[in-house]
Amino acid sequence: MEKRDLLYSGKAKSVYTTDDADLMILEFRDDTSAFDGKKIEQLARKGMVNNKFNAFVMTKLAEAGIPTHFQALLSDTESLVKRLDMIPLECVVRNVAAGSLVRRLGVEEGIDLNPPTFELFLKNDALGDPMVNEYHARSFGWAEEAHLDQMKALTFQVNTVLKQLFADGGMLLVDYKLEFGLFQGEVVLGDEFSPDGCRLWDAQTREKLDKDRFRQGLGNVIESYEEVGRRIGVTF
Ligand code: UDP
Repeated sequence: MEKRDLLYSGKAKSVYTTDDADLMILEFRDDTSAFDGKKIEQLARKGMVNNKFNAFVMTKLAEAGIPTHFQALLSDTESLVKRLDMIPLECVVRNVAAGSLVRRLGVEEGIDLNPPTFELFLKNDALGDPMVNEYHARSFGWAEEAHLDQMKALTFQVNTVLKQLFADGGMLLVDYKLEFGLFQGEVVLGDEFSPDGCRLWDAQTREKLDKDRFRQGLGNVIESYEEVGRRIGVTF
């Protein structure tokens, strides 16, 4: 697969075209950002760790019947993916209260959410990714109803698969964010799944093992990502 032009450079990944119009190459960089890009640092090995972590998780999801854009690992920091027409929404499922939910609703961090809750955010850094609802998505044309229904169903299917995967590694999947796009009219999971976009706590000690270590300046960020990976069977 021949890597051609840089199509887009995001906060942590760069996207390149290939000689196949349906396929792209994702390059995972060491850049790490939080607070809508206001805190940015380079963390050594992060690109490699997230690339391999994502490949492992996407493969597990595909085995469970969830359509994903992931095609193949190309190198330590690059993966081949389907080129999706991205839907500009973030789908979040929360099993345990943390992060913006705690700030917004004034609830205690760590309470179980039963049933798990679902939220939608508009992908827009300038606006700070505001929370939106399904009617906003439809009224503004970000996504149509049938696609929203599928995104929600797939996001909850991912929860079933990944809660178990992380539980088997002695971890609690607190919450996570997914992004979807359309490939030949079908809703497909895109972007990435890594400790950058989810919260994972040690099941016994509730130690944070995800990007909150970076957001909150707790240290050992990449060491924790690798620990999470090792516990679920990723080889780095
Ligand atoms: N998240 C993300 N990208 C974003 C916003 C959130 O990956 O732009 C993830 C975040 O890591 C967490 C979940 O989505 O796992 C819920 O995030 P929350 O709304 O609590 O926001 P935050 O605390 O990150 O501001």
